[in-house]
Amino acid sequence: MSSLYELTIADVFKGLREKKFSSREVTTACLSRIEEADPLIHSYLSVFRDSALEQAARADEKISEGGSLSPLLGVPLAMKDNILIAGSVTTASSKILEQYVAPYDATVIQKLKAEGAVILGKTNMDEFAMGSSTENSAFGATRNPHDAERVPGGSSGGSAAAVAAHECIASLGSDTGGSIRQPASFCGVVGLKPTYGRVSRHGLMAMASSLDQIGPITKTVADSKILFEAIAGSDPLDSTTSNEAGTPEKNLKGLRIGIPKEYFGEGLDSRVGDSVHRALEKLVVSGATLVDISLPHSDYALATYYIIMAAEVSANLARFDGIRYGYSTERDSMQKDSSLLSMYTQSRAGGFGREVKRRIMLGTYTLSSGYYDAYYAKAQKVRRLIQNDFKDAFSRVDVIAGPTSPILPFRFGERTRDPLSMYKADIYTVAINLSGIPALSVPCGTAEEKNSKGLSVKLPVGLQLIGPWFSEHTLFCVSEAVERNLQNHE
Ligand code: GLN
Repeated sequence: MSSLYELTIADVFKGLREKKFSSREVTTACLSRIEEADPLIHSYLSVFRDSALEQAARADEKISEGGSLSPLLGVPLAMKDNILIAGSVTTASSKILEQYVAPYDATVIQKLKAEGAVILGKTNMDEFAMGSSTENSAFGATRNPHDAERVPGGSSGGSAAAVAAHECIASLGSDTGGSIRQPASFCGVVGLKPTYGRVSRHGLMAMASSLDQIGPITKTVADSKILFEAIAGSDPLDSTTSNEAGTPEKNLKGLRIGIPKEYFGEGLDSRVGDSVHRALEKLVVSGATLVDISLPHSDYALATYYIIMAAEVSANLARFDGIRYGYSTERDSMQKDSSLLSMYTQSRAGGFGREVKRRIMLGTYTLSSGYYDAYYAKAQKVRRLIQNDFKDAFSRVDVIAGPTSPILPFRFGERTRDPLSMYKADIYTVAINLSGIPALSVPCGTAEEKNSKGLSVKLPVGLQLIGPWFSEHTLFCVSEAVERNLQNHE
């Protein structure tokens, strides 16, 4: 049998029910695994050893009492560090929140606690979820478990690496422009960005409120479904949530899969493209049809995202002023010039990292008088055109498929000097958030690369499946087939 930390949610559920092992044993196995792997990988910013073992003990009691068991009872999970857990430090990987203790539980945490899940700790990320590599964390980058010389993707890089390195059974991330799917793709695990409004954002630190969604990062598609169902649903504390049950699942027989020509063009690494094509051809064997489609406004998606996202970032991050929240220079060292304004500016200058400052400035600029119409208002119009592209496509096809990322996991430092080259990593993911539709990244193959010692490493490739609003169950069904085909191939 494999080690307990290698199990999936479904395996743990089965093993606990059959009394093959206890939650305490699975939790202890994950904690030891963290001790062993995390000095290199650095997925975690904090580990809650004592409370995790208490939660596990409570789960074991429940199991011994018998009765119906929730699928997450006693399952050790990790949470991205922008999701609030009452009484624990929540930093969003920012120095400005280094000592911030969350006063309440996010709705997703309340739900997971009610299911009896065990929470192992908080995972590393790009500061305030801005980035695609975790290199923007104020507390050091996370490494890719497939090749420690490479980034795990971002911004939920810690959550994806923790799952891939078996430092937890599954985790939650957040996705504003690709931050669940791209790291899932880079780390060879499954990541779902649910339909906007399916999962409550209450207690998620806001990056760009019209784009943010929390979602699961898991070892398998079946686990993604379990975790998604546990956290989805309407919430009076987030008025954008919906109680929609979701559209009925469509299976592969006769399924029309749209292949957008814009997602296979310039900038796509041919090894990524080949791997995705091979996976799609296998779906045809199972009864699906591939249909060439076009999403004509794709070229504008990055620019539109970087205007709308930055505008919302500049508004949301205004609260971090060193008084209401966060680090304050005044408290650290008495300044001679102690006007209120200088306190604000010094706290923000010292507390925020470069990328966060860049986006606050860009967003403030596009919202300022005289530029608002030219940038922000125009971007909102283009956002509608991008949404309409998907609406048109979904009148012809059931789902859309393509690569999650145009490139393979890259080396540290390779893209940090030129922000634009980092932004391009999100080229296939941002349009989905602008449209509010769900998408899932599932591993579909690997590509060989060499590390600095000349040894070959296998880097994961992710296939992105995009569906109409509330079609998560169809995405699970199709991605399960991709997963099965890949296993049969191996
Ligand atoms: N990488 C993208 C960005 O930097 C997406 C971030 C996210 O989804 N949180 O904005």
